[in-house]
Amino acid sequence: MGRWIAALALGIALAVSTGWAWPTPAAARKVGPPKRVLLLHSLGPQFPPWNTIAINFREQLRSQSPHPIDLYEASLQSYRFGAAEEQKPFIDYLRSLFAERGLDLVIALGAPAARFFLLNRPEIFPGTPLLLAAADERTFSPTELGHNDTAVATRFDQLRQIEDILQLLPDTTEIAVVIGDSPLERFWVERLQHSFERFAGRVNFRWFNTLSADEMVQQVRELPAHSAIYYGTVRVDAQGVPQEGDSLFGRIREAAQAPIFSYIDNHFGQGIVGGPLLSSYEIGRRTAAVAGRILGGETPGDIKTPTVELSTPLYDWRELQRWKVSESRLSPGSIVQFREPTALERYRVQILAIAAAFLLQTLLIGWFLHEHRRRRIAETESLQLVNDLARMNRFATAGQLAASIAHEIRQPLSAIVTASTAGLNWLRRATPDLAEARLAMETAVEQSHRADDVIKGVGALFRNEAQERRRVDLNELVEQVLAITAQSRASHAIGLDADLTPDAPVVMGHPIQLQQVILNLVMNAVEAMRDSADPARMLRIQSAVRADGTALIRIRDTGPGVDPKVADNMFQPFFTTKPGGMGMGLSICKTIIEAHGGSLTATPNSPHGMDFQIVLPRERPRPAGGRRP
Ligand code: ADP
Repeated sequence: MGRWIAALALGIALAVSTGWAWPTPAAARKVGPPKRVLLLHSLGPQFPPWNTIAINFREQLRSQSPHPIDLYEASLQSYRFGAAEEQKPFIDYLRSLFAERGLDLVIALGAPAARFFLLNRPEIFPGTPLLLAAADERTFSPTELGHNDTAVATRFDQLRQIEDILQLLPDTTEIAVVIGDSPLERFWVERLQHSFERFAGRVNFRWFNTLSADEMVQQVRELPAHSAIYYGTVRVDAQGVPQEGDSLFGRIREAAQAPIFSYIDNHFGQGIVGGPLLSSYEIGRRTAAVAGRILGGETPGDIKTPTVELSTPLYDWRELQRWKVSESRLSPGSIVQFREPTALERYRVQILAIAAAFLLQTLLIGWFLHEHRRRRIAETESLQLVNDLARMNRFATAGQLAASIAHEIRQPLSAIVTASTAGLNWLRRATPDLAEARLAMETAVEQSHRADDVIKGVGALFRNEAQERRRVDLNELVEQVLAITAQSRASHAIGLDADLTPDAPVVMGHPIQLQQVILNLVMNAVEAMRDSADPARMLRIQSAVRADGTALIRIRDTGPGVDPKVADNMFQPFFTTKPGGMGMGLSICKTIIEAHGGSLTATPNSPHGMDFQIVLPRERPRPAGGRRP
């Protein structure tokens, strides 16, 4: 007790005395005469952490009190000297200040101010309610409080805070305890040194209470690796210099090469790592709440406020990162603030836009693939349709050619019969003439081949398509077509001029389809000339290998040609100028040729008639090979 009397010695001076009503919009709603409140600071209004608590208290009282508040603030300036001096002048000053006006509530902020009031209670405003705030419950005894007194006390567990440091940074071997040399700080140094003995052998404590502020900064700069700083309070340093405001903390933070921890949150966000902390907001809020109740008429002695204890552990994410503390080391339920937004959070809009673009692209690709598949199916179906049509077209052609075909087969057959009979006769002679007989047999063989050509050509008309492409000699196809149309040409007095290249115009393709194209074009030419009045009827058919390596089949007639007006429509399906025509022939021909990678064109022939040209990519010619094995 004696130490406190010494601590609260004379030299007390009034530092701040401001009488004012809360200038807030809420003040307009306050009713009745103002309530006069004296807030006594322990050293001055700017000593942490009480300065932050005072800010929170003022704000909360302003918003909670139903009355206008006339707040006076004074400071126990003498406390900074720590000398035992007479304090009566300060008491007299305060009493005289409120002698006339009266006082509704006295609040002592911090343990020194609390001690001052408790010691001088009989003399200083004995009938005025007293509220002790922000004083640790270990700095006074509840028995010291009368019926007109109450307290919003704090209690914090320093051992738990040190354990938290070691939990976060298990490699820590040294903890610098930044604490000053005021009477209150000496009180704490003594208690802490005693209770920290339990960490002996585990971690070394370096006490700053014997240092000046400059020495503290220097020591912080020179701390060895694996150190941590436990920042308490420095109200007055060892040289007796008061440390107002946050400047010392700022200097320590700049010099520190080690993580800084503290017991209260007023430097949270300014460079301390965090942990289980006292909440200056909570202390201010509860003090304001109790003040409001007293001003509302409640008896202070009846108001029992729970002690403000350490809050849920609170950490600064940036400091955790800086000191490489994994969040897995934090106790469950810890709160981490000041997280830097992740790339996802920072570029949320851009990422969403890109994701949407990707999604759209994926959908488009999906849609294109779907369409592509549909097209493939449609193409396959249409190819099948073309095949079916081509087949019908061939049947129709075969019907038209029936008479011609019969004739073409009968011709060689009767030649074979004639030649064979002659041959037999040559052999039956008394002296068989073998030379004549051989000649006759050769004629029979030749005519057999001729019949075979016709039958092959006709057979193709009725055969189903072979799906695979193979090497096809276009000259062979031309000859087959000429064979089966010979009779038709002859019956209409159509001459033939066939000019087939010896350069083997071999292409890769479907022989039946390609034969059908040539046959269609030849039949169209025959039909055009059949109806023509011009007696000079000539079918010219030519095969060639062109300079660019492609194969050409050219079919020209001397018919009437086409009206230029209908020329464009010739290749359209179902276009026909013939009474019984189907109009599918040219359309099928074009489809087949283009499916073989070639082109089919029609131009007027000179002086009249039509000139059809089939151009096909040519297969590399083989070194040898005849048309018959
Ligand atoms: P179709 O022979 O059944 O009419 P095509 O598709 O083979 O069907 O021919 C279409 C039309 O093209 C014919 O009706 C005819 O008017 C014209 N055409 C085709 N070839 C010739 C040709 N060589 N000379 C004159 N007109 C032709």
